[in-house]
Amino acid sequence: MQTSTEVTQLCDEVRRFLLKEVEPRSRWIEENDAIPDDLLQKTRELGLFGLTIPEQYGGIGLDLAGKCAIEEVMGSTNYGFATLIGNHTGISTTGITALGNEAQKKKYLPRMAAGEWVGCFALTEAEAGSDPAAMRTTAVKKGDRYVLNGEKIYITNAPVASVFTMMAVTDKSKGVKGISAFILERGFKGLSVGKNELKMGMHGCTTAPVVMQDCEVPAENMLGSGCLPTWRCSAMPPVCSPSAA
Ligand SMILES: Cc1cc2nc3c(=O)[nH]c(=O)nc-3n(C[C@H](O)[C@H](O)[C@H](O)COP(=O)(O)OP(=O)(O)OC[C@H]3O[C@@H](n4cnc5c(N)ncnc54)[C@H](O)[C@@H]3O)c2cc1C
Repeated sequence: MQTSTEVTQLCDEVRRFLLKEVEPRSRWIEENDAIPDDLLQKTRELGLFGLTIPEQYGGIGLDLAGKCAIEEVMGSTNYGFATLIGNHTGISTTGITALGNEAQKKKYLPRMAAGEWVGCFALTEAEAGSDPAAMRTTAVKKGDRYVLNGEKIYITNAPVASVFTMMAVTDKSKGVKGISAFILERGFKGLSVGKNELKMGMHGCTTAPVVMQDCEVPAENMLGSGCLPTWRCSAMPPVCSPSAA
């Protein structure tokens, strides 16, 4: 789904969906700070959770320009709904798409494309917002696992997420280059999600702190080990594999 005609058709389809299904529920979403279950189900059926996930993993496979076109349409209506989808199909899945190995992609992307598993992206901490280099969350390797400790704040979708792209310091001596990304699952021991923050707007899209206390993560859940930075990965995929490290 890359041609401009197809993107235009999809934009029209999404616009009709928003007008018919989302707009009439907008007041309810604002007042309840939630998205009704039946609306989420219709959103899954339309394929919106898989907008940017490659077709081979069950998504629509939009490129960045296509995603921008859809975001423009989504931004014209309920912003909480738009952010839930925008976050999931943006920072919360693109790490796995861009840097995941085949086993990680096969395990996570199909269920994320289907909207069965919602994603979130956890970088920010109380003392590390604009300056992520100040991050305090650590990941220490112990055998075949990493043990994560730390607290993230303001994490969009965390209350409803099943998959967390989590940043943690693995080598403090390397500064910003010593930060690594991991895929965490909601059920991992030591991972907990705090209360949904009451925001002034963007209702329907939940935001919460995420705490890790000796949270055990299988070593194979590290993202992009052996990879060059993302822009190089997309430009030169063959370089981006652990075997090339
Ligand atoms: C609704 C919402 C959802 C969010 N969702 C996520 C999420 O899903 N995942 C995630 O990881 N984070 C998320 N965040 C966090 C967001 O990324 C941070 O709020 C942002 O990075 C800014 O960090 P901060 O709030 O600590 O502000 P600070 O870093 O404390 O900055 C405060 C102010 O100081 C300014 N400032 C900071 N440093 C400098 C400087 N060196 N020079 C000049 N000015 C400076 C900033 O521009 C800002 O105006 C979310 C935040 C909100 C409000």
